Amino acid sequence: MKFLTLAKYFQRLEETSARLEMIQILTNLFVEAASPAEARMIAYLTLGELHPPYTGLELGMSEKLIIRSIAMASGYDSKAIEKRLGEVGDIGKVAEEFIGKRKQATLFTQELTVERVYKTLDKIARTAGEGSVDDKVKLLASLFVDAKPIEARYIARIVDGALRLGVADMTLLEALASRLGSREYKSVLEEAYNVVPDIGYIAEVALDKGLDGIKEIDIQLGIPIRPMLAERVKSPEEAWEKTHGMLAADFKYDGERMQIHKDHDKVHIFSRRLENITYQFPDVVEIVKKHVKADTAIIEGEAVAFNPETGELRPFQELMRRKRKHDIHRMIEEIPVTLRVFDVVYHDGKNLLKTPFPERRKILEEIIEEDDYIKPSELIYPKEIKELWEFFMLAIENGCEGLVIKYTGPESVYQAGARGWLWIKLKRDYRAELTDTLDLVVVGAFYGRGRKGGLLSSFLMAVYDKEEDVFKTVCKVGTGFKDEDLTQMNETLKPLIVDHKPARVVAKIEPDKWIEPQVVLEITAAEITLSPIHTCAYNEVQEDVGLALRFPRFTGRYRFDKAPEDATTEDEIVEMYKRQRHTVEDVNP
Ligand code: ATP
Repeated sequence: MKFLTLAKYFQRLEETSARLEMIQILTNLFVEAASPAEARMIAYLTLGELHPPYTGLELGMSEKLIIRSIAMASGYDSKAIEKRLGEVGDIGKVAEEFIGKRKQATLFTQELTVERVYKTLDKIARTAGEGSVDDKVKLLASLFVDAKPIEARYIARIVDGALRLGVADMTLLEALASRLGSREYKSVLEEAYNVVPDIGYIAEVALDKGLDGIKEIDIQLGIPIRPMLAERVKSPEEAWEKTHGMLAADFKYDGERMQIHKDHDKVHIFSRRLENITYQFPDVVEIVKKHVKADTAIIEGEAVAFNPETGELRPFQELMRRKRKHDIHRMIEEIPVTLRVFDVVYHDGKNLLKTPFPERRKILEEIIEEDDYIKPSELIYPKEIKELWEFFMLAIENGCEGLVIKYTGPESVYQAGARGWLWIKLKRDYRAELTDTLDLVVVGAFYGRGRKGGLLSSFLMAVYDKEEDVFKTVCKVGTGFKDEDLTQMNETLKPLIVDHKPARVVAKIEPDKWIEPQVVLEITAAEITLSPIHTCAYNEVQEDVGLALRFPRFTGRYRFDKAPEDATTEDEIVEMYKRQRHTVEDVNP
């Protein structure tokens, strides 16, 4: 196909805003494609791309460089072109204008074809390294030299990433369906696209092998499948209803979703938006190589920032801090992540998309060799709503956002690219921040792991209950302690260690060491949440439940000036919780 033909199609697309008309135009365009390979190029170019986004291959030309190419091809000065761009604000129009009045003789121009434009742009994208800028400018100018004004308009816009015809992948799928004979085929094309989200490939297969070819499209290692998404409910009861009680409940970790492809010794990591993020997580690559016991697999999980010495999960913001930094290897040390694997969709050559969830989960548990840095997600198959409630609170207390509830019936397939009721999220929305710090009493301690092995490094903290004169637990804290703090804590607590629960301590958790209540620490936290395992305000706000702190952190202040009886009281926590609930969109039991 001549590029001029495509440019004219682009112009027509630009002029319509009616979707049906757009699909008709695109259908005709695919009818005109000379070959399946050309249909592929047309599909990409119509989206203003050269490759599917997950390849990460970009043209890499700034507006300035495009101007240089226009100058080179038209004989005008870059400054004049730049000035005009300032007035018009559209690089396409400016290219069109200057190519239309070019000074160079154009006796021997060669008509542009779709193939030549595509291949030249692809070459620009692949040209890298020293001196590459000049090469890119020359390559683009070579197209402008042979371009008609309207062709120059669209070439410039594509290179600038500003084609914006209003066509999306789904519009193209619909046009391809109608090219194959009926718009009804769209669902078949969409199913294939959810598994291989490469619109050019889909177009090529459609024109080459028709609908049967499309139906045979299968998972390909190294190409991300579109993620399954969850619907939302407001209460465990609602989730129970929606699934008729056939459900598993999974912690909803607050990190970054990862789709990880293991292909023997190669590992690719894709983000929720299907970008290739492998290079950002060399630590995850290593852990997957060692701990996923399969030659080939596609697993999904959430990478969460965590403290390897205590096992505590950390807030999402910490992971984001890591992503913003460029010195990846230093950040691996500063902000370690742990992967919580929640699904497997491919295993040793077998596509598991249609395998029911409980079976997928079994495979997952078999192939993950657990470690602090990689684990299957925390999951239960609750038998009653109460169990679901407790697990929900446990999730929040462990730094999670809530639960993802998974239907477990026979049709519990992995719905690539779909948001449906097979996955349901139950989230605790909180916007309140605890602004006050709390003064809490150490009543127990836990040994650290790794570098901190042998050192008490996280602590069971309690509030004071005035009426009963006892201490009730409200959180476990292991964050905010510098090395020197841990040394100091270990020295201070040593004489206070007792071999049984101190009489005035009320606890449901069993620490490695019980500590006589004496030391008071200043603690901050994100909020106060319901908790089935802490005894502060147990049965007070709700039956069988107490209150706990979410994301507690030691501020660095020891309150040696305070006696344990001067610590924050249980009543104060209840007050804070109630006050907080006015500003929180809470899930009501
Ligand atoms: P959100 O902002 O709530 O994460 P989302 O649109 O990114 O929403 P949803 O489908 O609504 O995605 O919610 C599921 C998301 O929760 C997944 O994309 C994933 O990142 C995250 N997640 C955390 N833990 C799990 C889990 N155990 N199972 C499935 N998804 C999980």
